[in-house]
Amino acid sequence: MKKEILTIFNHDRNIYKSKYIYPVVSRRSKGLSLGINLNTNNACNWQCIYCQVSNLKLGKPEAIDLKLLESELDEWINKIVYGNFLKECASEKVDFKDIAFSGNGEPTAAPEFESVIKIVLKKIEQFKLSKTIKLRLITNGSYLNKNSVQSGLKLMKLFDHEIWFKIDQVIPKEALKINRINLSISNLKKNLESALSLSPTLIQTCLLKIDHQLPSDDSIIKFIEFLKPYAPNLKAINLYSLARPSQQKTNLYIEALNKNELEIIADKIKILKTKVECY
Ligand code: SF4
Repeated sequence: MKKEILTIFNHDRNIYKSKYIYPVVSRRSKGLSLGINLNTNNACNWQCIYCQVSNLKLGKPEAIDLKLLESELDEWINKIVYGNFLKECASEKVDFKDIAFSGNGEPTAAPEFESVIKIVLKKIEQFKLSKTIKLRLITNGSYLNKNSVQSGLKLMKLFDHEIWFKIDQVIPKEALKINRINLSISNLKKNLESALSLSPTLIQTCLLKIDHQLPSDDSIIKFIEFLKPYAPNLKAINLYSLARPSQQKTNLYIEALNKNELEIIADKIKILKTKVECY
């Protein structure tokens, strides 16, 4: 295998040639995250303008080969837990922090989502990782009301786990521009309430400068108002901006917010009295 150095700037899921499993050094996980990509056809139900998936298309994942996924997961955990992978493949010392459902599209769109969770839980037990790593679901939340997704999430309850629930915008016109979806606030509420009823939940919010304009004050006020009733039950709100270039075609000019610009917005959101972190 070609030796590669993983950094927070290199999230190429194809470096190691596995179909479903890929390692990344993650800013937000604060270490090595073993990613599970259930969207190998690059299909997502959202089409965010900042998405870093090349050849992203609108749609659902293709059928998942569960045997192959299990054998790749087995191979990767072996390399990390018993091999030299952590020492050789990152530029600085990193610890194995999590297994994350985070692919080239929305993971909960896969009909096999619950079966994959069962495989992951089996491996966590087999390699005795339940006290050292977390299980994370990184999601746009749009399928969290589906029974099969909820059954999967109930299984995750047995282990240390979290949902990272994406809310970039709560103004429908802005969500259409940024996530390219027709946002329904009532569905967003239902999905967020499902997440909160099943798992420790963090909000993850990508903020962008669009055509040189920072997110409007109105969009931040509406975001705060929307989250107010949920704030006491949220674990945190994570704000981030572009770390790597968008792979999407758009007529809009998008740029990352700098740390200071993110922190100014974070200070406003702190009125919710929930932990707010910037990445
Ligand atoms: S939800 Fe995630 S995978 Fe889907 S388009 Fe947005 S950033 Fe890309």
